[in-house]
This record gives sequence, structure tokens and C-alpha cells, in this order.
Amino acid sequence: MKLKTTNSTPTNSNTISDLSIDEMGDDHIYNGLETPMKADAHTLSDTEKKEKISALFEQIMDVMGMDLTDDSLKDTPKRVAKMYIEEIFSGLNPENKPKISLFENKYQYNQMLVEKNITFYSNCEHHFVPFTGHAHIAYVSSGKVIGLSKLNRIVQYYAKRPQVQERLTNQIAMDLKMILNTEDIAVIIDAKHLCVSSRGIKDTTSATVTSYYGGVFKQPHKITELQSYLNR
Ligand SMILES: [Zn+2]
Repeated sequence: MKLKTTNSTPTNSNTISDLSIDEMGDDHIYNGLETPMKADAHTLSDTEKKEKISALFEQIMDVMGMDLTDDSLKDTPKRVAKMYIEEIFSGLNPENKPKISLFENKYQYNQMLVEKNITFYSNCEHHFVPFTGHAHIAYVSSGKVIGLSKLNRIVQYYAKRPQVQERLTNQIAMDLKMILNTEDIAVIIDAKHLCVSSRGIKDTTSATVTSYYGGVFKQPHKITELQSYLNR
């Protein structure tokens, strides 16, 4: 049996602050659009961060009783630190945000554009284990168009953070709204969480689907049209 949990996210009549307030009012695990960061999050350089993380991870391994003098283990703390800062959590650093350039909509293409099956790897911020899946993005041009690979890059940037899937969905949607200057954005994410499959409840078949439908994508026939492209 394929168990699917659908978490509809707020639609885009909400402003960014509305989204945060709505979600913070109750016990939702998802508690706002912004990734919770300290005010001094960006004072250390990447090199300093890697040195600190390496030393701290070494301590974790040591506490667990692992022999850090073993050839196989001795460089693991450094490897983990490098991977955190340069790869899987690089989206915490705004300097890594992809530079986006837009083009005039010369083709006069006024229908929805769907970029589907964008593979991403993220990490659950509650357990620091991966969740992976596909993002599907749709938009209708308000006059400008975006390079297709940039849609991919925006997904990767927000995925490379300790994340929750609901926030990932909304962060991508809000950024696209701003970049493309339109409400007509849809984002659907279908993902599997290792914190559900490899531990805890150990359900290996369930998947989590989240969505954001803004502007024209609130209309049922547009959602149906989008679904027909995704099912193709
Ligand atoms: Zn988790």
C-alpha cells in the first residue's frame, strides 16, 4: 500500500508575514517561511566553520567510543565538516544563492510552463538524515522568462539546508514569485524521508507530498491541466 500524506500549504493571497504568523499560532512542526538562523550566522568564514565543525564532530565520534587514530576514521570529521559547509548545507549561506537572469518573453508563450521531476536531496532538520524526492514547478510568464536550469538551481539552493518539506515548498514558491514578478506559481514536492523509513516508524513505502498553488493555479481546471502534464 502506498501511503501518501498531502500537506497543502497556504495559498498566495497570504503575504510572507501572514504565512509565518498562521503557522506559528499552533503546534505545527513547520513554523515559518524563514529558516531559523541566529543574527550572527554569517560572521565566521567558511574555513572557520569547517574547523569548528570538524573539532566538534571529532568529539561526537570520540564520545561514541570510536578510535579516531584508525586510518579509516581519522579524516571523517574533516570530511563531514567539508560536506556540511560546501555541499549539503551550502544553502544556508546567502552567498551561494544562484544568480538569476531573466529574459524577455520573445516567444509570446502565455501558457503554463512546467519543469517537472527536479531531483533534490535535502536533510530533515529534526533528525539530520536525508529526505529526497522530486520538485515540480509551474509558472505563467508575466512578461519575463527564466532559464530552465535556474528553476533547478533554486530548488537545489533551498534544499541544501536543514529543512522541513513544507518550508522548502514555500521558500521555493516565494522566491519564484519575487523573481518572476507573478502570483502564477505552482510548486509540488513529492519526497521520501529517511527519518520515517530508516528509523522510528520504519515505513519504507510512504511518501510526503506538499504543494503551493498561487494565482491562476488556484483554479481547479489549471490544477487539472498541471496534473495532466505531471502524469505524462
Ligand atoms: Zn525527521
